[in-house]
Amino acid sequence: MIENIEKYIEECEKQAEKEFSALDEIALYNQKKVLDAFREHRISAMHFNPSTGYGYDDVGRDTLGKLFASVMKAESGIVSPLIANGTHALTLTLFGLLRPGDLMLSIAGKPYDTLDEVIKGKNNGSLADFGIKYTQTELTEGNEFDFAAIEKKINEQDPKVIFIQRSKGYAWRDALSVEKIGDTIAKIKSFGTKALFVVDNCYGEFVEKKEPTEVGADVIVGSLIKNPCAGLAPTGGYICGKADCIEQISYRLTAPSLGMEVGSCVSGYIPYYQGLFLAPSTVRNALKGSVLVGYALRAFGFETMPKTGSMPYDIIKSIKFDTAEQLVAFCGEIQKISPVDSYVTPLPWDMPGYDHQVVMAAGAFIQGASLELSADGAVREPFVAYLQGGLTYEHCKLAITEIVRYFNGIGK
Ligand SMILES: *Cc1c(COP(=O)(O)O)cnc(C)c1O
Repeated sequence: MIENIEKYIEECEKQAEKEFSALDEIALYNQKKVLDAFREHRISAMHFNPSTGYGYDDVGRDTLGKLFASVMKAESGIVSPLIANGTHALTLTLFGLLRPGDLMLSIAGKPYDTLDEVIKGKNNGSLADFGIKYTQTELTEGNEFDFAAIEKKINEQDPKVIFIQRSKGYAWRDALSVEKIGDTIAKIKSFGTKALFVVDNCYGEFVEKKEPTEVGADVIVGSLIKNPCAGLAPTGGYICGKADCIEQISYRLTAPSLGMEVGSCVSGYIPYYQGLFLAPSTVRNALKGSVLVGYALRAFGFETMPKTGSMPYDIIKSIKFDTAEQLVAFCGEIQKISPVDSYVTPLPWDMPGYDHQVVMAAGAFIQGASLELSADGAVREPFVAYLQGGLTYEHCKLAITEIVRYFNGIGK
């Protein structure tokens, strides 16, 4: 039993001091990187203006792409509210780079669930429907790449795209550090491949000082309602990388020959610019929450990933509960202390495409925005909750206090 919960949380904060100060340092570094890019591109009010129709000469759109590219240290970038979500951005990227007969090789195991149908769907316009082949290699138990298997695939099948997912997704593993992604790309290049390296960067932006484009990735892809726009962007995705890759992808975003010359935004670009500006700080807030929850839950013996005491490489904290009731109650506590829909009780439901029930807490301003404090989990063993986000550290701290109060009250 914890006697004084507020005091207990303060003790947890003290234990987290080392990670907190490292996260502050990363945020400062990334804030400067973003600010420098704003100054370099001479951002002014004209860039925020709405556009309509074809969106010819839309300086807000063009500059936003260049700004993101500068921040990501990439040659070129697409940043667009016309991209519906991360899955759409990844789909555009894959269709932009791959041609019939080409092979996509995923080297961190199976990509994110929503890509299953994009890659292998039958008669739905998938890559497979267009004769694009797919293969994968698994990560080992120790979260290492299987280089022997990768080299074999390269020698025998000559992949055109090598795909790496930075975040852990729904796997019980650590996310990949940017350093590890860089070392891996360098090693695979030494096998003599000409493949393009595409990184699913979702949940990774601004978690570290570098992005994968700084360590050899040809293209990185992400969602604007996750890390890179601080909860302000109402929708959208981004794709940054080598200029020739981005050009090919832009022909899928709109149409061949039109590419990045068209596309309007009737609501204007302020949330995208302002969101990018705030993102390093907001991501840091969420990460501090993620670190704190690890320390706070130790008293109850729940296992977490990443492990308490280590630095996070994405914004997701996986928490292993013992029972379905604990998982559902945990999501309930998060929902209760959300700014939106706090009066709603999340219940497990049958989600299309899943063979088990899913429970979700999402009291967010922007639907599904997961840089806002949110949690979800499949109601089946091992009862893992995925907790992410928090626009302010104080919100995270209040939520964690309530979670501790809950588990303290019922015991484990
Ligand atoms: C969120 C996410 C995606 C894309 O999902 P959307 O819900 O379509 O935005 C892809 N990969 C990873 C690792 C993600 O976290």
